[in-house]
Parts: sequence; structure tokens; C-alpha cells
Amino acid sequence: MKLLFCNNCLAVFSLSHSIKKCDCGETSGQYVGNLLAEFSGPATMIGFLNSDFKIALNSKGMDFKAFTIEEPCQSFKRI
Ligand SMILES: [Zn+2]
Repeated sequence: MKLLFCNNCLAVFSLSHSIKKCDCGETSGQYVGNLLAEFSGPATMIGFLNSDFKIALNSKGMDFKAFTIEEPCQSFKRI
């Protein structure tokens, strides 16, 4: 799963196939395919493995690993 963190207002939000914006409106993004996403603004890309997250959801309180995604990234492009 891909998330965006707005470095300006500190909002973290998921993406969908319609444009979403952070609380301050500076960062926005959306999926443009099954795996490809585009974003703009003062953002840091965040990812985590869906499989690890699913295990954590079912384990109530278990840690899971999230990571920042370095640019350039072929599946998450700044526009
Ligand atoms: Zn913002």
C-alpha cells in the first residue's frame, strides 16, 4: 500500500483512483493504474507490505514495518 505524508501539514493519507489532497491542500495524489500512482507537492512517499499489515491487523498490537520510498520510483511518480 502507498501513502503520502505531507511535509507541510503532517497529514498522512492513502490514495485512490480519484485525486485526494492533504489537510493544507499542498500535497495531492492518485492511482492512475493498478500499481502506478502520481503525486505532487511537498510529500514523502510511504509504503508498507500489505501482507505484513494484514497479519498485524489480525494480531491486535503487533508491529509492522513501514518505509519511505526513494525518488525516483517507477510506480510512484512526482508530477
Ligand atoms: Zn499538507
